[in-house]
Amino acid sequence: MSILRELSCPNCLAPIDLKNHGSSIKCHSCQSQFILEGHLCPECNAYYKDEVAACGRCGTAMSRTCAKCHTSNWAGDEYCKSCGQAMDLLDIAVQSHHEQMALHTELRRAQIRDIRAQGEANSKKRMEEMMRAEKERIAEYKERQEQKRRRDIMLFFLMGCLIIGVIMIMLYAFFAI
Ligand SMILES: [Zn+2]
Ligand SMILES: [Zn+2]
Ligand SMILES: [Zn+2]
Repeated sequence: MSILRELSCPNCLAPIDLKNHGSSIKCHSCQSQFILEGHLCPECNAYYKDEVAACGRCGTAMSRTCAKCHTSNWAGDEYCKSCGQAMDLLDIAVQSHHEQMALHTELRRAQIRDIRAQGEANSKKRMEEMMRAEKERIAEYKERQEQKRRRDIMLFFLMGCLIIGVIMIMLYAFFAI
């Protein structure tokens, strides 16, 4: 008998009596036969043709291991099919909770990875911008230095001309007298 909810036939939705079932159940309405462990979700009634570890719809694990004899049982079973040990009723909920937590942690990790990658890309971009600004600043500085040098040469040349002119005038004045 299901511990969590009333199961219905995955084929015709008639209620299914899980009393004294083996590894499979048979619907008394439509005569369909269903394998339990790994195929029928005891939580949401989803049926999987191929064996699955957990329900793809609600995340419930499809089988549970007996704490006493370690036999694998269908997750919806109340007692271990091998030793008769009562299966922990909360186990099923805890298991799916763990799976959800693991999924959540994985998602969180992926998010952190994304944020980090983005941060790295941003800081790289900032670095490149800084380098470019620095290069521009250096080029500007060099340009200014060059202009100053040209001005100095010009000034020097003019000063030279002025001095030579003054000397010429003085010489002219001296010899003229
Ligand atoms: Zn049926
Ligand atoms: Zn399910
Ligand atoms: Zn057992």
